Amino acid sequence: MKPMISVQQAEQLIAGTIRDFGTEKVSLADSLGRVLRTSIEADRDFPPFHRVAMDGIAIRWDAQRSRDHSFLVEGSQLAGAPQKSLGSPKNCLEVMTGSVCPEGADVVIRYEDVVFEEKDGQRWARITVPAKGMWQNIHQQGTDRAQGATLMESGCIIGAPEIAVAATVGQSYLSVSRLPKVAILSTGDELVPVDQQPAPYQIRMSNSHMIAASLKKWGIDAAIFHLTDDKEGLTQKIHDLLKDMDVVLITGGVSKGKTDFIPGILDELGVEKHFHRVAQRPGKPFWFGTREADGGCAVFALPGNPVSTFLCYQRYVAPWLQQCLGIAPKSAIQAILAESITFNPNLSYYLQVKLVSDTAGQLMAYPVKGKGSGDLANLLVSNAFLELPPEKKTFEAGEAFDVYRFGF
Ligand code: AMP
Ligand code: MG
Repeated sequence: MKPMISVQQAEQLIAGTIRDFGTEKVSLADSLGRVLRTSIEADRDFPPFHRVAMDGIAIRWDAQRSRDHSFLVEGSQLAGAPQKSLGSPKNCLEVMTGSVCPEGADVVIRYEDVVFEEKDGQRWARITVPAKGMWQNIHQQGTDRAQGATLMESGCIIGAPEIAVAATVGQSYLSVSRLPKVAILSTGDELVPVDQQPAPYQIRMSNSHMIAASLKKWGIDAAIFHLTDDKEGLTQKIHDLLKDMDVVLITGGVSKGKTDFIPGILDELGVEKHFHRVAQRPGKPFWFGTREADGGCAVFALPGNPVSTFLCYQRYVAPWLQQCLGIAPKSAIQAILAESITFNPNLSYYLQVKLVSDTAGQLMAYPVKGKGSGDLANLLVSNAFLELPPEKKTFEAGEAFDVYRFGF
């Protein structure tokens, strides 16, 4: 048998097939979680005018220094009204947060520091706490960002702040990465749908739901299929999916069992195998290939055990997908192993851990021992995989390793 490839080789072979699914325009409301494919510039200065930042009165700085701190109130400058002009440096205008600073004024004294008095039928404002400097309580034009400045770069993931900034610069439609058409095909005679009572020798299918949920993060609505371990039926279905889909994710049927038909079928259907079997636990039987015809299709055939499926999705499929969507690859995050571990096989070991930030701000990884790749429930009490390299057998508490997080 051919020697297995390392996780790094698998990663490289997958990275070699990164492709662009194109772009499309979506409305601002539909852009959450999508990947921006243009840069967004400031159409105006930020703020676009000298903006009053406190409710109060606007005066002229020079006037405050030379006078007795009483100013005749000329009127009001409300938010949303065109700019007014201060008639005389001796006067003030009442101003509201969000209004334009009146022409001729350069200081705002908040209401808390002003007393209003009536004298001879006129309204006067007496300042009790003088301003400390010019432009006090005024958010000056262009001091956040200048007109034309790049606010967002292509490749950024659109969240609530990005939507707010796009709205502010008048972008009601955004150019984003087109999402690939993804199919999830689960295989296995033992699997029944969620809403069906399994016979004692059956289980409910969970992998396709796990992957579909993971893909939703990117806004991808995968098509879900299930087939029994029937070679002809599987061949026909996979043949059709290869033509229609950009990505096919298969679970189960890639190992050495009598009904593990998937690698043979993919070979027959002309999918170019990039590798089969990776020196890792869990997920050793992982198969990956591509087919160039019919617009191209990437096929990730993941081992069926739920923890293997999940690890392979998180470790390989998700980063590939992110890069296809135009997101720059993330630099690895490391966590510190909190308890010593021994692992003898010559494989990369993805240890399930619970990440906790300690009081010194360090990310600590506490091993969460489970019953292996079939122990689906153990994913509920862990939140990351710590990648322990095959070169060592004993991993000491205090050593740092790459970590792959999952969960919220
Ligand atoms: P396989 O990779 O087909 O040999 O399956 C390995 C193990 O994973 C078996 O115990 C299967 O019952 C289980 N398995 C396969 N597919 C699924 C699935 N979609 N949901 C839950 N368990 C699965
Ligand atoms: Mg199977």
